[in-house]
Amino acid sequence: MAEMFKLKIVTPDRIFYDGEASMVELTTTEGEIGVYANHIPMTSIVSPGVLKIHEAEELRKATLMAGFIEVLQDRITIMAEVAEWPEDIDAKRAQEAKIRAERRLQDRYPGTDVMRAELALKRALVRLETVAR
Ligand code: ATP
Repeated sequence: MAEMFKLKIVTPDRIFYDGEASMVELTTTEGEIGVYANHIPMTSIVSPGVLKIHEAEELRKATLMAGFIEVLQDRITIMAEVAEWPEDIDAKRAQEAKIRAERRLQDRYPGTDVMRAELALKRALVRLETVAR
């Protein structure tokens, strides 16, 4: 069996996750990473993406929008600004946010905050990916 490590994910308002995993996948500012036990210690900045927690028996998915990851020899801590389980996500709302953002980016009316629309689109896409089977 794969070696396990302790994984803790905290958000400003709760302990989002406290358990054991054999691998965790997430997106950082440097790209997508997969971390196993005994990884060299490192820290990185979290970018919007789907977090995949490989537990002994299960794969759990969640949305991470921003934060910070600290990898130590036997434990990983993620301090997330926003973290959402699939059951927290309203897929219809995310779909509507996606359409709204795409429309803004397509029309580009004067005064459009392109960066804001791009970030909103990214959040919506990540949420939809988290709830997708
Ligand atoms: P929207 O335009 O639908 O508000 P957004 O990406 O602008 O989406 P955020 O600013 O990322 O929303 O989030 C604001 C709050 O709403 C957060 O608490 C977030 O968890 C929640 N939220 C946003 N979208 C959804 C969703 N589709 N389902 C459940 N909660 C959501």
